[in-house]
Amino acid sequence: MISVEEALEKVLSYVEVLEPERKPILDCLGQVLAEDVYSDIDIPPLDNSAMDGYALRAKDTRGASESSPRYVVVVGEVAAGSMPTKEVRPGTAIRIMTGAPLPEGADAVVRFEDTDEVNRKSSGGDLSQIGILCQVKKGLNVRSRGEDIAKGDLILKKRKVLRPQEIGVLASLGLSTALVIRRPVVAVLATGDELIGIDQPLAPGKIHDSNNYAIAAEVSRYGGIPKILGIGRDSVQSLTEKINEGLDADMLITSGGVSKGDYDIVKDVLAEHGEVGFRTVCMKPGKPLAFGVIRKTEGGREKKVPHLGLPGNPVSSMVTFEQFARPAILKMMGKKILAKPAIRAIIEDDVVNTDGRRLFARVSVTRRGGQYHASVTGPQGSGILTSMAKANGLAVIPENSKGVKAGDMVEVQMLDWGEEQGEVKTLPIVSIVGKSRSGKTVLIEQLIAEFKRRGYKVAALKHSRGRMEIDHPGKDSWRFAKAGSDAVLVSSPGKLAFIKNLDHELNIEEIMPIVGPDFDLVLVEGFRKSKTPKIEVHRKELGDDLLCSPEELSAIVTDGSLDTDIAQLPWGDTVAIADFIEKNFVLKSQDGAFLPPPHEGRGLGEENVYRRDIDHQ
Ligand code: AMP
Ligand code: MG
Repeated sequence: MISVEEALEKVLSYVEVLEPERKPILDCLGQVLAEDVYSDIDIPPLDNSAMDGYALRAKDTRGASESSPRYVVVVGEVAAGSMPTKEVRPGTAIRIMTGAPLPEGADAVVRFEDTDEVNRKSSGGDLSQIGILCQVKKGLNVRSRGEDIAKGDLILKKRKVLRPQEIGVLASLGLSTALVIRRPVVAVLATGDELIGIDQPLAPGKIHDSNNYAIAAEVSRYGGIPKILGIGRDSVQSLTEKINEGLDADMLITSGGVSKGDYDIVKDVLAEHGEVGFRTVCMKPGKPLAFGVIRKTEGGREKKVPHLGLPGNPVSSMVTFEQFARPAILKMMGKKILAKPAIRAIIEDDVVNTDGRRLFARVSVTRRGGQYHASVTGPQGSGILTSMAKANGLAVIPENSKGVKAGDMVEVQMLDWGEEQGEVKTLPIVSIVGKSRSGKTVLIEQLIAEFKRRGYKVAALKHSRGRMEIDHPGKDSWRFAKAGSDAVLVSSPGKLAFIKNLDHELNIEEIMPIVGPDFDLVLVEGFRKSKTPKIEVHRKELGDDLLCSPEELSAIVTDGSLDTDIAQLPWGDTVAIADFIEKNFVLKSQDGAFLPPPHEGRGLGEENVYRRDIDHQ
């Protein structure tokens, strides 16, 4: 039996990112951009007005107020879409509409509300001159040329998933098409002699085929194009025929015929046409799962169509689809984030896990009092599809757990949340390690100052071996702690202090949710056993050996030179060291590129370790 992670890794190894295609931007929603998009225009193309009002020279409003208006002569009007025909000379103004180009000579726009226009109009007064009721500064209500997008700028990066706002940006650049990774065509085949089509009346012993529909809908939801092959019978001939019909697709998903009873037929048929790996995956529901490739020849060349054989039980097929087919489709589409967003929730029912497999329990998640709660959606038989219909999440009970009790925290995959919702900014953490007296603290001090200068928000975390005297004896906070409160918070307008009594020291991952999401970089002193990226400070006078083994280090800061492949940065050159950290950690994390792909051997439990979880309680 292989783990869910091993199975996922295997499945993903069978699929590749598809080739790009160019198509109309409106057809690209949800697809991944396959080119960098630069602008060859300025947006806005000209300085223009952000308000309906009067374009004039700011100078001419000097001293203006309601009681003492400044009068200017109105020499024309300009609407959005047309060009001004006159210039604004001293003492004059041009009536201007939002979006209209700013006339030559003008440097500000005064809103109608700040003029006496309304009064003049209602009293049938002269509109050839207007009173300005307030003094304005140069640039007021003026949108300057190129302030949104400047000609030559990189506007959208390759690999970006196109959302409505990106489609809008492409349109604003005047681009009617985009190059995107194409959507995969996924052939969907149900198997079983008991199945009849949904438009057929039920006959004794028969059931309607629901899997084809649920699976095809899943394929569409994740951006694929489903091609329903219909129902294959439990015979070699029928399956062979159907499978052949599906070979022009990018992937074939079958359901049924992989459990003990039918095992051999599907296996024989698939083995004849390609490689097939039947695996028992350590999960429930969904233990039996087949994956492999089917060979076909196309234009004299052999091609391989990846195949995923899901179990027949409707719930099992959906749960396994979510874990394996969904990420495979997303990978083919070129998406970076393959993991379903997960949250931590309080489970409201006991769930027992008897046979040491990873249990996916169908749950309904609600949010109450700032906390997620998950309740099991009735009987959990893998044929009970309505339990899936009532669910919006899958609670994940690890294989090494005997189950959970009501009130325990569980991880829940949120079925209806998009993967990109899980793309939270990663919080870059860098540990500065080194022997005692190597100068770690000095370096961190300098780095903090340097990163502040560069405009970043920095948090610093210090590891201390001994006890800390933060809550000074006699203070209220100290008295509350003394009285037995497990945590004491002291809040003032400018600061928040948080003091929590612990029975064991927390690791960095446990501390980060408390630090919160508002930082661009966390600099850590010490914690050399943590898995965070580490930079070691090495000083000649303390010997040539290092505290950490080279594989653990991202760089060495040294005042000597060491015989090693690791990047060496000069001790004392804070700018170079900050450059290294900025380039390798801070900027990478802002790119989202720092996220390890979910299949890189990371257990579900660790999913959020280096990520700012959306809801890490
Ligand atoms: P199998 O994996 O073929 O042994 O099927 C397991 C169970 O799932 C059986 O009770 C099947 O009747 C049911 N099943 C298989 N395929 C479908 C389908 N397409 N729609 C609904 N139920 C199915
Ligand atoms: Mg069957």
